Amino acid sequence: MPSSRAELLDWDRHHVWHAFTQMAEYEPLLIERGEGAWLVDVDGRRYLDGSASMWCNVHGHRHPRLDAALTAQAAKVAHTTNLGLSNPVTVEFARQLARVAPPGLDRTFFSDDGSTAIEAALKMAFQFWRQTTPARPEKTRFIAIDEAYHGDTLGAVGVGGVDRFTAMFAPLTFESIRLPPPGLPDESGHLPSLEASLARLAKELEEHGHETAAVVMEPLVQMAGGILVHPAGYLWGVRELTRAHDVLLILDEVATGFGRTGTMFACEQEGVVPDFLCLAKGLTAGYLPMAATLTHGCIWDAFLGSHAEQRAFYHGHTYGGNPLAAAVGLASLEIFRDENVLAALQPKIARLAEHATRLGGLDHVGGVRQCGFVLGLDLVADKATGRRYPWQEQRGRRACEAARSQAAILRPLGDTVVIMPPLCITAAELDQLAGACEAGIRAVTS
Ligand SMILES: *Cc1c(COP(=O)(O)O)cnc(C)c1O
Repeated sequence: MPSSRAELLDWDRHHVWHAFTQMAEYEPLLIERGEGAWLVDVDGRRYLDGSASMWCNVHGHRHPRLDAALTAQAAKVAHTTNLGLSNPVTVEFARQLARVAPPGLDRTFFSDDGSTAIEAALKMAFQFWRQTTPARPEKTRFIAIDEAYHGDTLGAVGVGGVDRFTAMFAPLTFESIRLPPPGLPDESGHLPSLEASLARLAKELEEHGHETAAVVMEPLVQMAGGILVHPAGYLWGVRELTRAHDVLLILDEVATGFGRTGTMFACEQEGVVPDFLCLAKGLTAGYLPMAATLTHGCIWDAFLGSHAEQRAFYHGHTYGGNPLAAAVGLASLEIFRDENVLAALQPKIARLAEHATRLGGLDHVGGVRQCGFVLGLDLVADKATGRRYPWQEQRGRRACEAARSQAAILRPLGDTVVIMPPLCITAAELDQLAGACEAGIRAVTS
C-alpha cells in the first residue's frame, strides 16, 4: 500500500497508461467510491458524475439490487467459458434481452466491449452474404457516417469517422463508403435537410448497394462525434433504403441504449428494427465490461450446417457471456421495470431542456444539442459568427476542469461540453450539475 497520497499519484503516473490521455500532461483525480449519482475521491471530496462514468452508469453507483446480484453470483461462480458451455444466468439474460429488444432480435452474441460488439456485427454481416442462398460474396463493403464512433479496434476504426482518433491508423484499416453526417451543422448552424441526407445515401446505394454488406450507424445521435442529433425521420429513411437495396443495417446503440435517448433503445423512436443491434456501456448499468450483438433468426440460420460445412461463426472473446456481468445486466433490466425508470426519466429530460435553453443563452455557447438525456454545448469564440476557439486552447477541457471545483465531473468532446448523467440523478442534483457546468463555462470564456 502507498504510504502517502503523493506516492499513489506518482505510481498512477508511472504505471497506468490511461486511455485517450496525453500522459506527459496527465493530472490524476483518484476516485475511491461512488454512491448514486455521486463519486467520492480519495480525499473524501464529492462530485456529481456528469458523464455517467463514461456514459455507462444508469441506475447510479452502489445500487443495492445490482450489488446484491453481483455478490450472489460471485458466491456461485465468477466465470465459466461460453465456448461450448453455458450457465443459467447468461441464458436468462439473453432471454430477457430478447424481450426488451425490438421485435425479432432474439439471438444474442456476447462479447466484452462496445468495439467488440461492432466487430462481431461487421464480421457476421460479411459472413452472412457468403453463406446465404443464393450467396452474394461480392457484398463485402460497409457504408458508414463521417464523425461516427464505433470503438477503437481496427474493424471498428474502419467504419469510424472521428478523424482525430482514426487518421493515424488509416493504413491498417479497410476503407468504407462515407456519408456526410446528417446532424453536423455548417458554420451558420444549419443542418443539411433530411431529404438531402437520404438522397445521398440513396445515391451510394444505387452505385454500391450490390457490393455492400451493411450500413452501420449510431441511431438518432452520433455521440462521440459531438452529440450530433439527426433530423427526425433519418433513421426510418435509412431502414427503408437499406431494405430496398438488400443491404443489412447495423445499429450501434452502445451509447444510446438503455434509456439514454428517453426510450429503452433509440431505434424504437422511429419504429425501426435493425438486422444487428450492438449494445455495451449501459448493458450492465455501468458495473462490468460486457457487450451484446443481437440479431434475428434469418441471419442465424445462414450460419447453420454440419460441422464439415464450416459455416459457424469462428469468432469469440474469452469473457463473452461472463456470469457476473450477466447477473448484473439481468438485475438492471428488473430495475428498469420495477422502478419505472423510463417514465421517471421524462420530467428530467424536460428539465435538462430548460437548462439547455438557459445555458444556450451564455455569451460563448454556440450550438446546443439535446437528445433525450444527453446535452452538448459548443463553446465558441464569437457567437454571432459561430467562430470556434483555436482547438489548442482546449476550452472544453478547461471548462470541465473548472466545474470540478463546483463538485461536478464532466467530460468534453473537443470544445463541446457534455452533460450525460446517470438516469437516476434527481432533479435537484441535475440542477446542481447544470449550475456547475455553467460556472465551468463562465470561468474559461469570460
Ligand atoms: C463507447 C462507444 C463504442 C466503443 O465501446 P468500448 O466499450 O469503448 O469498446 C462504440 N460505439 C459507440 C457509439 C460508443 O459510444
